[in-house]
Amino acid sequence: MADAPGRKLRRYQEMRDFARTAEPAGGAAGPAGHRFVVQRHRARRLHYDFRLELDGVLVSWAVPKGPTLDPKARRLAVHVEDHPIEYADFEGVIPSGEYGGGDVIVWDRGVWRPVDADPAAALEDGTLHFDLDGEKLAGRFVLVRTGRGSSDKEQWFLLHKQDEHAHTGWDAEDHPRSVKSGRTNDEVAASPTALWHGDRPAAEAEEPVGWEPVSEDELAALDALGAKGKWSVAGRSSP
Ligand code: MN
Repeated sequence: MADAPGRKLRRYQEMRDFARTAEPAGGAAGPAGHRFVVQRHRARRLHYDFRLELDGVLVSWAVPKGPTLDPKARRLAVHVEDHPIEYADFEGVIPSGEYGGGDVIVWDRGVWRPVDADPAAALEDGTLHFDLDGEKLAGRFVLVRTGRGSSDKEQWFLLHKQDEHAHTGWDAEDHPRSVKSGRTNDEVAASPTALWHGDRPAAEAEEPVGWEPVSEDELAALDALGAKGKWSVAGRSSP
């Protein structure tokens, strides 16, 4: 049984040790809580990866329809493997043929605060209450384990409570841009600035590629030049 407790715990332990021995990449939580990130990931199927930083890893769920502020909605959330902390800021392309091949944007991020005294125990028991303070998501959420699906992955529901942040009919797809770059998945896929190789150690998994996005200052300098003069853009200069 692929999800036997012993094996699962061992895998978690491996991920945890891995994350600890890798170079810490800004893994420290802010004073107000732990980090969370939601990445919009177009792999074989579109989904949103909902990740909570806990004990040195990103505990993760794949949410096909995305999180919502709608208190009447229950979003299916499939528990997937922990990810290394280094992945939290990743935006770019996972090469096709590699695990999770497709494009990824940082759809939302911020801090989360557990309501339960021991969040790791609450997760083990199958119900976690927490508050999010992100750029899109805010307020009280609950993750509830509902059982196993057709695969060996645990199925959970992600719910938003009725509170001052609740918004009936709120749909993640109506808010498609990255909070990191302002870009859409299409724009990132067309000119990614980074690739992710999940088979490498976490500290070496991200590979910068291509040109950095052109800045407003660089564009203004180009305008000011007219037809003559040397130009420099994204670190490159004219002859
Ligand atoms: Mn994913």
